[in-house]
Amino acid sequence: RRSVTPTSRTRSPPQDNDPEPGRVRVAIRVRPRNAEELSDADYADCVEVQPELKKLKLRKNNWNSEFYKFDEIFAESASQKRIYETVAKPVVESVLNGYNGTVMAYGQTGTGKTYTLGKMGKDDVSERGIMVRALEDIIANTNSTSDSVEMSFLQLYMESIQDLLAPEKINIPIVEDARTGEVSVPGATVVKIEDLDHFLQLLHIGESNRLAANTKLNTESSRSHAILMVNIRKSVKSDEEPGSSFQEKDRKTDRHGNQIPIVRKSKLLIVDLAGSERIDKSGSEGRLLEEAKFINLSLTSLGKCINALAENSPHIPTRDSKLTRLLRDSFGGSARTSLIITIGPSSRHYPETTSTIMFGQRAMKIVNTVKLREE
Ligand code: ADP
Repeated sequence: RRSVTPTSRTRSPPQDNDPEPGRVRVAIRVRPRNAEELSDADYADCVEVQPELKKLKLRKNNWNSEFYKFDEIFAESASQKRIYETVAKPVVESVLNGYNGTVMAYGQTGTGKTYTLGKMGKDDVSERGIMVRALEDIIANTNSTSDSVEMSFLQLYMESIQDLLAPEKINIPIVEDARTGEVSVPGATVVKIEDLDHFLQLLHIGESNRLAANTKLNTESSRSHAILMVNIRKSVKSDEEPGSSFQEKDRKTDRHGNQIPIVRKSKLLIVDLAGSERIDKSGSEGRLLEEAKFINLSLTSLGKCINALAENSPHIPTRDSKLTRLLRDSFGGSARTSLIITIGPSSRHYPETTSTIMFGQRAMKIVNTVKLREE
């Protein structure tokens, strides 16, 4: 049994001077107080951000605060544009250079995962989230005649993959190429994206289907993971960076000895994870309990994989859940990964906020936090 994926882990990392290739970059975003929280006099804010120091202060009470370091810290005022440019654009650029990449959002339900990733910004383009901005960049940097940009849109619910572009397709298997390690979901609908409007239409269809499917199942969208998978095929000259899927045998010349362009394949995954809140298992029964177990399984196994990457371990335990199997060739090694941790500011959710922050800290491989007393 192979423990590493050739496409993402044994190929050389992208030539972009990244001093720590393969490490998951972790950013944290604090959502602004919502109307309910603004009128909630019982609970003060428990987080304070110090973006210039890349530090976040979590206040337990008047005497105790803890400081946490992240790669990036975004205050309530951070714009969607800045989040995209700081967190996701480097991943998108790497994907355009032929490497796989993943952008994920992790946090309690209601803290802004979907806003950060999936917001369409129909009325106000400045509100557009990472998915739309990523596709905008990808479309602008590919040639509509010689390159192809295709997407699938999936929901992963209770270890079953459902096609959000054809919701009657459920339980779609994940296929892994034994030779290349390439992961795919060939049973899912694949649509070639014509332009940004077309992408927005597909996103809208997928989201409506997600809502309808979950209403039918009598569950919340926050109990499943939504996965946008974008596959890019780009023809490049042989002296350009060949990308992670390239093999020397792919280099071909015509009968005059001229180099035939190489087709470079890469994949971008944008994953809106299920809510990380702990479901009270003692109070839950039936399907709710089953949902909770599956969410715990996938988020725990994701955490284990990210921690293994942070420790530079040669074995990334991706087999434990469908989520990590899907991500197998798209994080670590030459694949770039960004994780956005989302939290709310109110101390009403202090326990969940703390556990979300701890997930992010483990991903950063910061084992010891600095505990400081308030002066
Ligand atoms: P999640 O996906 O984590 O459950 P949502 O993205 O649905 O959370 O966000 C919950 C609510 O908060 C939504 O109404 C969303 O528009 C709003 N919201 C989240 N983040 C922001 C933000 N940074 N600025 C303004 N509104 C936000």
